[in-house]
Amino acid sequence: MSSKQSFMKRRAEILDGNRIAAEIKREVKDAVTRLAETSDVQPCLVAIRVGDDPASSVYVRNKVRVSQELGLKSEHLALLDETTTEELLATIEVLNGREDVDGILVQLPLPAHVDERRVLERVNPGKDVDGFHPVNIGRLILNQPTLLPCTPAGIIELLKRSNIPLSGARACVVGRSHIVGRPVVQLLLQEDATVTVCHSRTSDLASVTSQADILVVAIGRTAHIRGEHIKPGATVVDVGMNKITDEEEARELFGEAAERRINQIRERGYTLVGDVHPSEAESVAGRLTPVPGGVGPLTVAMLMRNTLQAALMRRGIEEVSSER
Ligand code: NDP
Repeated sequence: MSSKQSFMKRRAEILDGNRIAAEIKREVKDAVTRLAETSDVQPCLVAIRVGDDPASSVYVRNKVRVSQELGLKSEHLALLDETTTEELLATIEVLNGREDVDGILVQLPLPAHVDERRVLERVNPGKDVDGFHPVNIGRLILNQPTLLPCTPAGIIELLKRSNIPLSGARACVVGRSHIVGRPVVQLLLQEDATVTVCHSRTSDLASVTSQADILVVAIGRTAHIRGEHIKPGATVVDVGMNKITDEEEARELFGEAAERRINQIRERGYTLVGDVHPSEAESVAGRLTPVPGGVGPLTVAMLMRNTLQAALMRRGIEEVSSER
């Protein structure tokens, strides 16, 4: 068979993030139930949102809803857009001091006038369920027990539960942000992968990415990673979440599967696309995370697991979940 024929025939296995996220949430729910049976602890998550960004509002409401479904307590603090850095710091201090609060989540982005760095650094590292505090990032690099950033931890969980061999694998991470790329690099290293990092200054990106057995892409550029960037048979994790509104673009990106996407654009004005070209990747990769329904659901599931873990760590309770 010519290489062109094999290129055309291959169909990547789709890695179902919703299924794996549901599995993790079930485990958290069971552990929360067991915790309630053996102690009077009910882990509590407080989500803080500043301003009226509609997307942030949807994200926070979703996190609060899921936490309640799993038996966690949760609170949603919606603060006014004009909240100052000092006022937000004071709110966090109150939550840091509250014995009943286990997890504090500050929904990003914050309004431009708020000093994001000072805010994130004020969260007690033991309650930092987003895993963004420098102390937790430091522990991650030192391979010490800590609260891991949710999206990177979710990516590793997805790979492991999909039985993708990590030890000795050649992994390439495209993107080096503090919240996704860099922590993913550290976590893959801990799994004994051989890791290469690419970014906006990488020259001849395809020559690097096409060597990788595992390719993780988090760049925020619609369908930037094409077939030529992918090693045939590789596992591709597409972290990107970009909205497209153009029907022609959807047709080009999704090929045979375009109709459903075009309908979405007609119904709600947009459809979600990752950083990886979906139909080209499906022809070349061995396994691929879809967008939506890949990494996204894992992020929320890992937040729930972090809230449980924060509650246990703070009280010195042994792990009640069988998975970790
Ligand atoms: P950032 O904008 O913080 O970082 C983007 C990174 O990509 C940077 O390191 C940048 O390089 C690199 N980059 C940009 N353009 C290129 C290019 N052409 N070639 C190679 N590298 C490039 O993004 P985030 O990490 O916050 O997010 C990335 C994507 O993941 C976004 O689409 C976001 O929406 C999505 N996301 C999804 C989540 C989920 O739950 N599914 C959670 C978080 C993010 P440099 O450092 O040189 O500037």
